[in-house]
Amino acid sequence: MPKHELILLKNMMQPGYTGSLADYEKTGGYQALRNALGKMAPTDVTAKVMKSGLRGRGGAGFPTGVKWGFLPKDYQGPRYLCCNADESEPGTFKDRQLMERDPHQVLEGIVLACYAIGAQSAYIYIRGEMVLGSKILEHAIGEARAAGYIGKNILGTGITADVWVHRGAGAYICGEETALLESLEGKRGLPRVKPPFPATHGLYNKPTVVNNVETLANLPHILSRGPEWFASIGSPPKSTGTRVFCVSGHVKRPGNYELPMGVTTRELVFEYAGGMRSDKPLKAFIPGGASAPFLTPEHLDVKLDFESVAAAGSMLGSGGVTVMEEGTSMVWAALRLMEFFYHESCGKCSPCREGSSWLVQTMRRIIAKRGQMQDLETLTDLCKNIAGRTVCAFGDAEVSPIMSTLKHWRHEYVALIHEADAANLIRPESAGTRH
Ligand code: SF4
Repeated sequence: MPKHELILLKNMMQPGYTGSLADYEKTGGYQALRNALGKMAPTDVTAKVMKSGLRGRGGAGFPTGVKWGFLPKDYQGPRYLCCNADESEPGTFKDRQLMERDPHQVLEGIVLACYAIGAQSAYIYIRGEMVLGSKILEHAIGEARAAGYIGKNILGTGITADVWVHRGAGAYICGEETALLESLEGKRGLPRVKPPFPATHGLYNKPTVVNNVETLANLPHILSRGPEWFASIGSPPKSTGTRVFCVSGHVKRPGNYELPMGVTTRELVFEYAGGMRSDKPLKAFIPGGASAPFLTPEHLDVKLDFESVAAAGSMLGSGGVTVMEEGTSMVWAALRLMEFFYHESCGKCSPCREGSSWLVQTMRRIIAKRGQMQDLETLTDLCKNIAGRTVCAFGDAEVSPIMSTLKHWRHEYVALIHEADAANLIRPESAGTRH
């Protein structure tokens, strides 16, 4: 039994809960919407969300209410809300569960956000592979529209907010908010150069907010139970509420665990996820999806909140916690992640496009025991010339597996290179090819 109150996963954990509109209404669903629309000013909704301290759950952790506040107040034309459901970060699988198991919780959050920012149209950009999730959402939207929660004149208030589902086509980069907007407009999903930011020049060049699924699912609860209640959970004042942590890797019970922010990885892995699968010691973990630098057993008691994880040299990111046991080759682990990033680079900017290729080639050479000490300097130099020099944050993300494994497990790289040296002593004919 969980020691902490579930908020986002609570309904779906009830026996027999189907996620239908009728089931959702029985739990108090859409009551926050009834209490807000036409009864609270949109600015009051934004003020409550700001006061709650809610920060984005997609990766960047930007304060949600502040993001909404960037929309121009005097703009009279259309404005849009986009729900980022393009969950593609390796090791992250929470949004899928939220959409498939309790879709109305997400939809209520979307309509509340539309009301707060004055958007009459919202698009759920869902990862293309999530066929089931998109069908469930389509069905739920139909139910909500028929019941008057979505569409024109919601609940007789005269307020309009309609919602559409748009399936992506499998590109990781479309989870980056401006690439998502490009894709939604029917163009190739390439990140835009910023500024301008989506708040002023977003979808179809109109003011737009892009919020993650989990972020939006929190809104009905903040509105129903109050911002003070939400702000008292987790690690206030900067990391409030719960996170749905996605635990994967070498643990006995991988899965989604909703816990207050500030839980430690030790608690998450050993109290909730059943501990290590083969009782070997934990060797490494990624605290926030593949984009987050690796941490070590020394960091097991670091609080999983935005500030503490950043202070430890990584990031809370998407909440995907991937655990690796003793015996895992960290060079191999870094290469696997690097191959993913190489495959997913959109190619728009040369440091990322060319650099990811060079990083993969160099890593493969080391793994194949054809490396040399000079390769370690090459890797470091490449990483430094990618991070911070690209159009989007992907560049920073793709170097993190290599930089963090070089920092904590450099001896594993060196050992592979020494094995290469030994092999070449046995095969002197190859010595002339190496320096
Ligand atoms: S950093 Fe990579 S993914 Fe981002 S725009 Fe440049 S090439 Fe594309």
